[in-house]
Amino acid sequence: MSRATGALIDLGALRHNLRRVRELAPRSKVMAVVKANAYGHGLALAAQALAGADAFAVAGLEEAQVIRRAGHDNPIVLLEGVFGEQELDEAAQWNCELVVHDEYQLKLIEKSHLRKELGVWLKVDTGMNRLGFSPSAVPDAWKRLSKAKAVKPPLRFMSHFASADEVSNPKTVAQLEAFAAATKGLEAERSFANSAAILAWPHSHFDWVRPGSMLYGASPFATRTGAEDDLRPVMTMETALIAVKKLRKGESVGYGGAFVAPEDMTLGIAAIGYGDGYPRHAPSGTPVLVKGQRVPLVGRVAMDMIALDLRGLRSPAVGDPVVAWGPELPVEEIARAAGTIPLELLCGVTQRVKYSVVDTKK
Ligand SMILES: *Cc1c(COP(=O)(O)O)cnc(C)c1O
Repeated sequence: MSRATGALIDLGALRHNLRRVRELAPRSKVMAVVKANAYGHGLALAAQALAGADAFAVAGLEEAQVIRRAGHDNPIVLLEGVFGEQELDEAAQWNCELVVHDEYQLKLIEKSHLRKELGVWLKVDTGMNRLGFSPSAVPDAWKRLSKAKAVKPPLRFMSHFASADEVSNPKTVAQLEAFAAATKGLEAERSFANSAAILAWPHSHFDWVRPGSMLYGASPFATRTGAEDDLRPVMTMETALIAVKKLRKGESVGYGGAFVAPEDMTLGIAAIGYGDGYPRHAPSGTPVLVKGQRVPLVGRVAMDMIALDLRGLRSPAVGDPVVAWGPELPVEEIARAAGTIPLELLCGVTQRVKYSVVDTKK
């Protein structure tokens, strides 16, 4: 036996969530966002389960290479484009499509003598104020890209929402209006919607939707869980009890003695900590599953371990299975307890955690 800390990835849940995207956006093509190692789920695994997507989207060329090496020939979009001339050549060799969001990238493309053309998405900044051409600069950028020899037609448009997870925020409507105005009269495919917009803003779906979090079963909304929108959690973060002990009333637990036993009680130690990606800020009371039953975490989260109050559990024993998050314990709930968002927990699973795969058909 070795340390039991692992991330179990459910390929059937990934496929289910992709089907949910297609149900919600039936007239749109799907660009599956698999950046950041597929939100911590393992890029090669996720690409395999999501191979039915019309395209993949990643943050950088290295991620695109992982997908190509795994044998997939779906289009791959580099969401931040390329960062230099040599990378432009490589992006073409690896058959990637580019976002062009800034004048320096536009110049790179105009100057380049690529032997191979690449697909381009012109990014419009409609109010997120991160990446993209301002609406007034769009017609000129469009004209120049249309003439550039390195660009494989047809040119397409992309933008990104700042607040689509707030279902009555007028910012989203303002961004849609800015997009319509900036791209008016230009015949091209368009892409705008992230997970929140796929779920909450059907008018934003356009030709291509770009789901990320929802593919992994995580809700983009602060007050919901993925399950409430018929999404299935893909990752189960699991481990086991490595010690069970009796604590006398008044004895304290762990670093800083942050928890003091209010009475004689049974305590469990589980082999998971912030060194695995369990959030250090999870306070006493954060739920953890032992043998499928909820028990509260007590004391400080350490690098390799957490302590659990097992007073409510019948005959706990070393080796009992422990779940930190998964289908029976929403990652959204753990994130809320720790003052963060589910995506930070999913992306934060560390290298020493062992990945394994299940494929629940449903
Ligand atoms: C990450 C990302 C997405 C996916 O966002 P989710 O909220 O996870 O669905 C879509 N588009 C762009 C440009 C992104 O960077």
